[in-house]
Amino acid sequence: MGVYSRTPLAFERGEGARLYTTDGDAYLDCMAGIAVNALGHANPILVAALKAQAEKLWHTSNIFTIPNQEKLAKALTDASFADEVFFTNSGTEAIECAIKTARKYHWAMGAPERIDIIGFDGSFHGRTLAAVNASGNASYLEGFGPPMPGFVHLPFGDMDALCAAVGPTTAAIILEPVQGEGGARSWPEADLTAIRKLCDETGTLLIYDEIQCGLGRTGKLFAYEWAADAAPDIMAIAKALGGGFPVGACLATAEAGRGMTVGSHGSTYGGNPLAMAVGEASVAELVKPELMAHVRELVGYFKQQLGGLTERYPDVVEEIRGKGLLIGLKLHTPNREFMQHAREQHLLIAGGGDNCVRLLPPLNLTLAEASEAIGKLEGACEAARAKVQSQARAPAA
Ligand SMILES: *Cc1c(COP(=O)(O)O)cnc(C)c1O
Repeated sequence: MGVYSRTPLAFERGEGARLYTTDGDAYLDCMAGIAVNALGHANPILVAALKAQAEKLWHTSNIFTIPNQEKLAKALTDASFADEVFFTNSGTEAIECAIKTARKYHWAMGAPERIDIIGFDGSFHGRTLAAVNASGNASYLEGFGPPMPGFVHLPFGDMDALCAAVGPTTAAIILEPVQGEGGARSWPEADLTAIRKLCDETGTLLIYDEIQCGLGRTGKLFAYEWAADAAPDIMAIAKALGGGFPVGACLATAEAGRGMTVGSHGSTYGGNPLAMAVGEASVAELVKPELMAHVRELVGYFKQQLGGLTERYPDVVEEIRGKGLLIGLKLHTPNREFMQHAREQHLLIAGGGDNCVRLLPPLNLTLAEASEAIGKLEGACEAARAKVQSQARAPAA
């Protein structure tokens, strides 16, 4: 189906932060498959885990016990607020599970009227019907029938509107601690703490979508850890979880998960042995303190260098935002053109809402590669400036 606007660029292989085209051209990858290849391309540890499992067992069924599913669930619950995990094949399915879990909780508590999920402008929760309804982005909803009941949308960061909106039919609040597709917008840590408190006071469940910002991208394993007393009840993760192998997960406390009893949800592939082998290897790497220390070092470097770039190109870069290695450059010039300028420098970056481009490099990018990325961004800024200046010189049509 013609649902993608594709760049005529095809890759044959990758290694670390480097992608090679079929013609052998090398590109520095600072989008990492949109925050998926967090450990770089063809990471030897993940390749070995996948190969070893491929020779043993790919798939059984969730009617059987799957030992490495239990191991990965334990690794995730040990490292987070959660007590239980449901495995999916994608981020949007993890969101579906989160929404179902929240509504079923209130049903099990004798409050079936509590169905409303409150979300925020600029959010992105995936492309299945409930997920696009939770996001509320009009362009993703158009043509797909009437908006579903039970979804409420508020301006990003509007705490007054949020306090006013939570009522007797509210089931949950859903948010990305750092918005990804919306253009690398981070919730203030104090707001997350206040939202947690509001949820406790009103019996509302708090759902975080850490599909993009989670699993080490902000320099802590989960982005919510930066805020004090702000752990969610339910959380969706995916992307970096499989490093490129499709796997997602919905995490919950035992309390929030109480409605999800035998028969209330399921998946054929979710949590199969092949996915779990890769997930286990991936999480074992992502929880390493050395990796998080490395991420924070990279973040410091990028902050300083991008600050300099903003000063040198105030006509191109308006603002640097985001958190950790989910970095947004809000631009004065069109972001799609800027991505093309970056590609001409053999640098891959992602787009984003609000005329942003995003840097989402692998977490194990080296400092030398980070410096190379800055050099290429400088080249892209130069090209963007030259284009604006040549347009200004051209006689008006
Ligand atoms: C990518 C993403 C999703 C959707 O994940 P899929 O695997 O594409 O279904 C949901 N939420 C956020 C924050 C994402 O970045």
